[in-house]
Amino acid sequence: MATAAATEAPISADYEIVIGLEVHSQLLTASKMFCRCPANYANAAPNTHCCPICMGFPGMMPVINRKAVEYTIMTALALNCEIPDFSKFDRKNYFYPDLPKGYQISQYDIPLSRNGYVTFTHDGQEKRVGITRVHLEEDTGRLLHVNEGGDPHTLVDLNRSGVPLMEIVSEPDMRSPEEARLYMEKLRSILIYLGVSSGKMEEAALRCDANISVRPRGQSAFGVKTEIKNMNSFRAVERALAYEAVRQVEELRAGRRIVQATRGWVEERGVTVLQRVKENSDDYRYFPEPDLPPLVVSRAWVDEIRARMPELPDAKRARFVADYGLSAYDAEQLTAERALADYFENTLKIGQPYADSAAMQTRAKAVANWTLGDLRALLNADARDITASPITPQGLADLLTLVERGAISGKQAKDVLEKAYASGAQPAEVVKREGVSQISDTGELDGIVAEVIAANPKPVEDYRAGKTSALQFLVGQVMKRTKGRAKPDSVMPIIERQLGGA
Ligand SMILES: [Zn+2]
Repeated sequence: MATAAATEAPISADYEIVIGLEVHSQLLTASKMFCRCPANYANAAPNTHCCPICMGFPGMMPVINRKAVEYTIMTALALNCEIPDFSKFDRKNYFYPDLPKGYQISQYDIPLSRNGYVTFTHDGQEKRVGITRVHLEEDTGRLLHVNEGGDPHTLVDLNRSGVPLMEIVSEPDMRSPEEARLYMEKLRSILIYLGVSSGKMEEAALRCDANISVRPRGQSAFGVKTEIKNMNSFRAVERALAYEAVRQVEELRAGRRIVQATRGWVEERGVTVLQRVKENSDDYRYFPEPDLPPLVVSRAWVDEIRARMPELPDAKRARFVADYGLSAYDAEQLTAERALADYFENTLKIGQPYADSAAMQTRAKAVANWTLGDLRALLNADARDITASPITPQGLADLLTLVERGAISGKQAKDVLEKAYASGAQPAEVVKREGVSQISDTGELDGIVAEVIAANPKPVEDYRAGKTSALQFLVGQVMKRTKGRAKPDSVMPIIERQLGGA
């Protein structure tokens, strides 16, 4: 299997990889792009969400979905694009059985937006990728290939036909398959923050086509590119590009030429295969859609859309560092997903009011550690995301309060979290039900320490001879006897006192 790590090293010596991505995202509108049919077809029986418009009957008049235009403008603003005053729709002509009209309504020379950029972190450095354009079009229907009783045939389902589809085209600014994956992850995060896309690649609500070429290092002209399709996960994007880069370099090293073509990624075999020799935009005979008026985008409308935008990941990350004193790394992790950031802030809010900002930042660090550490590990093991967490923000906040008050130890809290997660009860209930508590009574601890000292003459002798590691051993023995119910920092002075001081 080709991997980015394995392939970049030999290529980087004499060849440079150049990648640009075309990302398609279905938009979360209630209705389709040009008709009133529901856009959500997930659980619908085939061909039940369609009408004469999205089935491509002749003479039907499309009507532009205002929400889809707003979502596209909002995305373009989030990607720092210019929004021209005027835009239009065009017909892209081609024939395929999932496209009953024989053309797709798309945008050609005057898209809704252009000239933007997005940034993300790669190896601790900020990487900037240019956005050529964000435009709006309609999705096609779906073909279902079946083979019932040795009679292979294809069924057409037009429920998806006409669903709003936004296309985000990047500049060829990425230089490794890993950068391409990070770019995709950042885009997805922004789309989900905006609430315009489900971001689900596994359901093809988010799709990626990649243009990739290689060139000798130092050469400014681009090499001949191929377009890779059919990648349905971030991992597939990275693997497919790593494979294709190696393939192209091997072709060039063997003295052969790269053929401009569309290639499909075959996940099971880990290879790209030739699908068709690439068509040019000329082949589509684009022309302005005569059934739709030009789209005038007033500045007032753009301002209104901008005002409705939520806080985006970069701004949120900066705020988490400035307000909560989190590390850049923790802030980045927490803000990558909007739901995770919300969970963190909701948990932190429950502890209000804080005595001072230091107390708030201490709690913030604890919430970040538990959310990104133990809780996330439990969720990952279960393939759940934070929105499906059985531990509520209130539950986690209560657990942290018990630790801060010294009622339970950090180690006990870990056990409690696991038990709560598995049983569906909240942590405070588990603590109550199981009588989890920390020994704070010094009389009780004194007795246990005395027993440990009596039972371990050798380490005691070592300690008296000046071996500090012996003290750790004795503390460990006390923790063992109390089953973790003692606080290590209160045990240590008791041992020292009983042994006559260090
Ligand atoms: Zn329809």
